[in-house]
Amino acid sequence: QATAAGARTETKATCCYCGVGCGVIVESDGEKVTGVRGDPDHPANFGRLCTKGSTLHLTANPVLQQQVRALHPELRLARNQQRERASWESTMDFLARRVEATIREHGPDSIGFYISGQLLTEDYYVFNKLAKGLVRTNNIDTNSRLCMSSAVAGYKQTLGADAPPACYEDIDEAQVIFIVGSNTAYAHPILYRRIEEARKKNPALKVIVADPRRTDTAREADLFLPILPGTDVALFNGMLHICLWEDLIDTAYIDAHTEGFVELKRTVRDYTPKFVADTCGITEEDLIRAARWFGQSKATLSLYCQGLNQSAAGTAKNAALINLHLATHQIGKPGAGPFSLTGQPNAMGGREVGGLANLLSAHRDMANPEHRAEVARLWGVDDVPSTPGKTAVEMFEAVRSGEIKIIWIACTNPAQSLPEQKMVREALKHAELVIVQEAYRTTATVDYADVLLPATTWSEKEGTVTNSERRITRFKPVLPKPGETRHDWEIVIDFARRLEQRMGKAGTLFPYENVEQIWNEHRESTRGRDLDITGLSYRILEQQGPQQWPYPEGAVTGKKRLYEDGIFPTASGRARFVDTVYKPVVEPVDARFPFRLTTGRLRDQWHGMSRSGTVAQLFSHASEPAVMLAQSDMDRRMIANGDLVHVTSRRGSQILPALASDEIRAGQAFIGMHWGEEYVSGRGSDGAGTYGVNALTVPAFCPSSKQPELKHAATKILKAELP
Ligand code: SF4
Repeated sequence: QATAAGARTETKATCCYCGVGCGVIVESDGEKVTGVRGDPDHPANFGRLCTKGSTLHLTANPVLQQQVRALHPELRLARNQQRERASWESTMDFLARRVEATIREHGPDSIGFYISGQLLTEDYYVFNKLAKGLVRTNNIDTNSRLCMSSAVAGYKQTLGADAPPACYEDIDEAQVIFIVGSNTAYAHPILYRRIEEARKKNPALKVIVADPRRTDTAREADLFLPILPGTDVALFNGMLHICLWEDLIDTAYIDAHTEGFVELKRTVRDYTPKFVADTCGITEEDLIRAARWFGQSKATLSLYCQGLNQSAAGTAKNAALINLHLATHQIGKPGAGPFSLTGQPNAMGGREVGGLANLLSAHRDMANPEHRAEVARLWGVDDVPSTPGKTAVEMFEAVRSGEIKIIWIACTNPAQSLPEQKMVREALKHAELVIVQEAYRTTATVDYADVLLPATTWSEKEGTVTNSERRITRFKPVLPKPGETRHDWEIVIDFARRLEQRMGKAGTLFPYENVEQIWNEHRESTRGRDLDITGLSYRILEQQGPQQWPYPEGAVTGKKRLYEDGIFPTASGRARFVDTVYKPVVEPVDARFPFRLTTGRLRDQWHGMSRSGTVAQLFSHASEPAVMLAQSDMDRRMIANGDLVHVTSRRGSQILPALASDEIRAGQAFIGMHWGEEYVSGRGSDGAGTYGVNALTVPAFCPSSKQPELKHAATKILKAELP
């Protein structure tokens, strides 16, 4: 992949920001990254890059790296001490000793691992094996719990497997694109450009957007449904009601390929256009038009993301939308399907290796004894623990209560990104040992680390990632590891081997000498599963470029689209309708807290800004956090643009500048998710709980997916008294 031209090299990689998974060509002079451009051969982007991707090289600037990177291990032996520089040898020995002693004294479930969709598949695989195969705890979860777990549960409940059935090419083939709970123009910009191009090529293509905000994506839609936050299930059931009434369902398909429709039909009978229009805050005419376009189209593709997933009803929202696709047979054919977009660059890879508290390798379920036995055989261990692991928020609650003594955090920043910020920070303070494995020393979580393990990052790593359309890309490093950093997988296996020795084990669980050997074991774990990649190899990925799964032995290419034969990976081979019922939001607005607060991404920033926040030009779109409000609400409260306001929920309060926005309906408010405590008032004042927007959100999660509610909280907004 790397071609030398004198000292200069050009290496193919992927952008490390979002789940579109764009291919990039990284230019280097051998010592530093000198530029980046879109890879014209990568099927995710064909050479295009968005503002974040096209400035990636600036994040690898060597001077900047010295300021923000963790470059050597650090350790403190007591909480009242500063961390001090330490050798890898002494740090890893210390860790193995502490973890082994804690397991011996308190049992394996006293250890927790909280990892990340930013890790590569190989890193994810060894972390999962370390937790479930060696430590013998299912207490391993990932920040993908905040991002994709409702999509996982929705696919599994309806289609039988966590496999997005569509692909990016379906954007070009669709007649109707239904975008819901996704500001695609900001969160997945290169896919949005593909939609724009598809519209130019096919003027008949209709785009419907359902979103509480009139985002840039909604502005360009042929039909915009400004639904009230949290009313998605009512919308989808209402659209199905109209499709039934107007005979837009495909009865032959339902009879031949699905089950459970009778019960659902009974439920959606109550979702009359009037009830749904009133519930969602839209007109009956628009609702009926949306249902007709959806049902009458030859091919309808739904694109959806956190607006459905980050909700106490996240799984029901996903399932209700998939119900609509199944009933109208908008699935398993070109241009059609329910297509959840992944947020993070390798959220999909993490799902493949089972890096969540309830999953095992290759889409196996931890609750299934046969699946546990299969994984135990594969790993050569007696068994895999059956006790359910703690999911993201539960894990930090267990740390706070003392149930989990040691928490190992890799490549993520829970002190900013998890909900219930006050609880999370208390947990980090009270843990017996906090291990943070990170590329950046600047995250809020690093402040709490007793042990800091410096890891490599983009342009330094080697391995694979899988994007939203199930496409695996392999890449090699561009630059050598800076300072004393190590690759994430190297850190894990060094620790694991020491722990095996201390536990008196044979030392055979982590025999890998390179990243390819890890991937080969992962590949073998997929044999016979829905995501079978036994026909792939690193060599094929290098020679033929990125490939979609499944790609079983004997295949010559990956599978673009799933379920074209109408056979689903369920016990009966039929897709299952889920009887979805609309439930109002967990915390409705009232006279004291009258504003509906939603949160989300801004165009040019990424997550907690540990990387994107190092690029000055990415602040030109939004230079500081703000609360966006409708002009009418600001006028009524005599708030001018830029005035500071208190945004207060039942959990906490922040002071932010107010910004009038025509995206926002009266009675609603929006705050970007990226800024942490250093940008809002009350830095470091734990008592006030001013840690960023997640200090305001609701402590509730979806009962099926355990994904937290981040899209609706009741708040009040008052002009701040200025001195
Ligand atoms: Fe990177 Fe996503 Fe932009 Fe592509 S769309 S360049 S993957 S941030």
